[in-house]
Amino acid sequence: MCATCKDQACGLNACPTRRQALRVFGATAVGLAFVGSGWAKEVQAPPKPQNVLSPDASLQRLIKGNERYVAGETRRHDFKHEREALVGGQNPYAGILSCADSRIAPEYAFDSGRGDLFVCRVAGNFANAETIASLEYAVAVLQVPLILVLGHDSCGAVEAAIKSLRDNTTLPGHMPSLVAGVAPAVKAVSQQGGDTLGLAIRQNVVDTVAKLSSATPILSAAVEQRKLKVVGGVYGLRDGKVRMVT
Ligand SMILES: [Zn+2]
Repeated sequence: MCATCKDQACGLNACPTRRQALRVFGATAVGLAFVGSGWAKEVQAPPKPQNVLSPDASLQRLIKGNERYVAGETRRHDFKHEREALVGGQNPYAGILSCADSRIAPEYAFDSGRGDLFVCRVAGNFANAETIASLEYAVAVLQVPLILVLGHDSCGAVEAAIKSLRDNTTLPGHMPSLVAGVAPAVKAVSQQGGDTLGLAIRQNVVDTVAKLSSATPILSAAVEQRKLKVVGGVYGLRDGKVRMVT
């Protein structure tokens, strides 16, 4: 059975529903791989047409939203209306890989509504297999044009990794996996002196941007085709401003 139109007799390659869905979003070779799967309904119509943006326009929208947030001029979001519009699907305009820190809330920091941001969060905002897979879904199926890796100052996860590596101690429970995630950035800046925490936070964002940009086969192909940009920023706890680092 065709997963796009649910027609028992439909040959997938000739499916008119599928062709229409691809036209709506200007499907890429990347997206083609997923059409015909159970995710195909995600690309049938954009519930938020204003979210269909180029990578550069997406970044500008994030920056403008953060400027409103910093200035205390956030918009009133009509969650009831948005809830109804989003029942049938989603088309977020950006993907965010953020630290799990409760003080960093991407939807607030970029003055965004529901259905606007596809957010993955893990303490230390590094990319593991699950977050890469989630962002692959965002790019290949939801046509997200931009991924922002969002670190923040005074990051406890990075600080814990610095101490663990410096003192050669092991954190309890599953927390060593967080240390392993940010360890490459900590080691890269450990000989530089100065503000090791600040340098490691920045390096971790830079490394994660590079890892996502080169993640084969989906994200790297989308970057090559200029369908996707991957950028990085650091959120300032004191003023709420996101400062771009890549
Ligand atoms: Zn953090």
